[in-house]
Amino acid sequence: MLNGALLLAEAVLYFGAMVTLFRFRRRIGLGVFICALGVMHFLETYLASVFYVALPFGLVSPGSAVLFSGKLVMILLLYMKEDAATVRQPIYGLLLGNALMIGLVLILRLHAVSTLPDGRMPNIAFIDEMGWLMVWGTSLLFIDAILIILLYEKLGAYLRARPFMRILASVACVLTFDQAGFFTALHFVAGAPIEVFFGGWLAKMGAALAYSGMLVAYLKWVEDNDVAVPRGLSDIFDTLTYRERYEALIKYVGRDGLTGLLHRGSFDADGESAVSAAIRMGKPLSLLIVDVDHFKSINDRFGHAEGDKVLKSMAVLLAETAGGNDQVFRIGGEEFAVLTQQSHAPARLLGETIRNAVKTSAHTNRFNITVSAGVSTVSETTRCLADIFALADQRLYKAKLSGRDRVVGEPGSEAIILQAAPKSA
Ligand code: GH3
Ligand code: MG
Ligand code: MG
Repeated sequence: MLNGALLLAEAVLYFGAMVTLFRFRRRIGLGVFICALGVMHFLETYLASVFYVALPFGLVSPGSAVLFSGKLVMILLLYMKEDAATVRQPIYGLLLGNALMIGLVLILRLHAVSTLPDGRMPNIAFIDEMGWLMVWGTSLLFIDAILIILLYEKLGAYLRARPFMRILASVACVLTFDQAGFFTALHFVAGAPIEVFFGGWLAKMGAALAYSGMLVAYLKWVEDNDVAVPRGLSDIFDTLTYRERYEALIKYVGRDGLTGLLHRGSFDADGESAVSAAIRMGKPLSLLIVDVDHFKSINDRFGHAEGDKVLKSMAVLLAETAGGNDQVFRIGGEEFAVLTQQSHAPARLLGETIRNAVKTSAHTNRFNITVSAGVSTVSETTRCLADIFALADQRLYKAKLSGRDRVVGEPGSEAIILQAAPKSA
């Protein structure tokens, strides 16, 4: 009874201290939490190798039931509130730190050790035993950590609305797997009987229950009281993990819903920084504004849905035609912009390539679509995006006025294009 209560007290202390460090991660840095997590490894392994207490169902070590299970839950918490790139750090850190320790111990063994005045000598056999447990434990932890994240993600499909069940199921499954692995090692190395498996397993299931409850309470009452939580996601019961939220956001933020291209807002932001970078570094940068000719008549004759399909095809075509470093935006209904790190002549040529591709592409030539484009390039007089935008826009207007289906650039740049451009109708 006392042992059970003490184990619970240890779990509450461990959890409370660790989530406090985690809670203040923005202020004190995530390193504090991660270091504390790593430091626990010593005690955890030491206890798991020699420190067992009796519970009604068998022998239990606080090292594995409290500390090891707790560490796994902390890794899950780190993944839930941060992301995979962050959680990878302690996982790899623990693995590599242990490898380093083994390397050091192998060298340490070669010393001629002096006896201390009181006759004490280091216990090499014990260090060896701890060492193997650490290697095995860390390898298992490495697999466990990856498993728990994968499982937590998978379970999201069924248990998104039930975070307690989702966390409990993830933790319990992985701890079961872990206990099987841990027991196998104990069995073969120390001849541990099967009762050790069940005793440890039941203790870990108890830990899974306690930690899942504490974690859900922490997420609900502490973590998500954060002011930074987006509106509508303040309730843990619809909270997606950080990574899920990130992916969902990335899908929409900065992108146009119909074509998936970067939208006008992105153009204003990215365009401005591209122009100032080009001015600062003296690198070439050109802007193409591409507008579909008589697009309204496509809508009028074939319907809005067909019009939408043409816009999607235009987006695909532009993305394919543009180079790897070029950025393609949808800046208006049937108006697109391409930012290319090229000087004027090649940028005009890109315009011609686009104009010809529209006429030959299976998707856009169904309606005999043509496009007009205006091209401008950053020069000594350029101060900001608006300067090259105005110029490209004027040239686009000129292209429309002079009969459409053409690319207009700097006066005098036609000669180069006529030489280089493929013959067109
Ligand atoms: P011009 O050759 O002078 O560019 O003629 P236009 O008809 O292409 O030019 P205008 O700017 O007058 O018409 C653009 C049309 O694009 C008007 C609008 O109905 C259509 N449009 C804008 N956004 C969308 C959209 O998302 N889907 C569809 N199907 N049509 C759109
Ligand atoms: Mg148009
Ligand atoms: Mg237009």
